[in-house]
Amino acid sequence: MGSETGGNGSEMVFSNRWDEFCDVLIVGSGFAGLAAAIEAKAAGSSVIIIEKMRGYGGNSAICDCGIAAPGTPIQQARGIQDSEEQMYADMMAAGLGLNQPALVKTVAENAADVFRWTVETLKVKYKDRVNQFGGHSVPRGHTTHNRSGSAIVGRQLKKIRELGIQIRTRSFLQQLHLNADGRIEGVTIREGYVFPDVHSGTIKHIGIHQAVVLATGGSPETFLLEKPRIPGCMRQWMLRQSIQRLRNL
Ligand SMILES: Cc1cc2nc3c(=O)[nH]c(=O)nc-3n(C[C@H](O)[C@H](O)[C@H](O)COP(=O)(O)OP(=O)(O)OC[C@H]3O[C@@H](n4cnc5c(N)ncnc54)[C@H](O)[C@@H]3O)c2cc1C
Repeated sequence: MGSETGGNGSEMVFSNRWDEFCDVLIVGSGFAGLAAAIEAKAAGSSVIIIEKMRGYGGNSAICDCGIAAPGTPIQQARGIQDSEEQMYADMMAAGLGLNQPALVKTVAENAADVFRWTVETLKVKYKDRVNQFGGHSVPRGHTTHNRSGSAIVGRQLKKIRELGIQIRTRSFLQQLHLNADGRIEGVTIREGYVFPDVHSGTIKHIGIHQAVVLATGGSPETFLLEKPRIPGCMRQWMLRQSIQRLRNL
């Protein structure tokens, strides 16, 4: 497989010799990536998860896991009046209006369903209480039994194993390749990657039949697009450019 980077940062793929294929490639093994993998597999797709670190779970596995969700049974049992609209208004106010309304709406509208999914499908146990965290006008913070995201990640990994989904650790997404129609046709990854050495590991090219799910977390630098002066940062920059271009599609 060969590719080159055009002057405007776009990649031009000129051969289709991929090392392997999958329907859906999930990048990142936190809450988002593992949930997407479970759903994609349930929909009948072949799925590979790649994770750049040695261990699974990302920030999700170590977070305090206070889940904000409106209208849950735990709230209702305490007579707490709450709604998606109220959560949306609270988030916009806390974000001083700088947040992206469409994304806030998605979070507010889906939080209760996601919470229910963790209880009913994953069998995650929660403390029988609800907290009022900063920025929220009512108590809507739900806490896992061990006060850690590991309670959810652990149950997600159990499901992943039951479904026979591969997770490949130390596999770093380096570049996305788009075809002439702007669809992702493949990716370049580094297998055997050792964080944070961007030259480590060996290059592999995976052809994609259906989709790539970027569940790489929310590093504030993810979308910085200024070309770095340090050569070692080039691959991270190319990945950022790939992501930015996808956001513009
Ligand atoms: C200490 C702490 C406490 C927190 N407490 C709360 C809380 O109480 N409530 C709350 O709502 N949120 C909390 N958060 C935030 C919350 O943890 C995150 O928003 C959430 O875990 C993000 O999940 P994710 O799946 O999007 O990303 P992550 O869990 O970060 O997973 C992303 C994964 O992608 C991998 N990755 C990145 N780039 C690549 C690449 N190029 N190739 C391959 N893999 C890659 C990373 O290694 C990582 O494993 C907390 C965070 C921390 C750190």
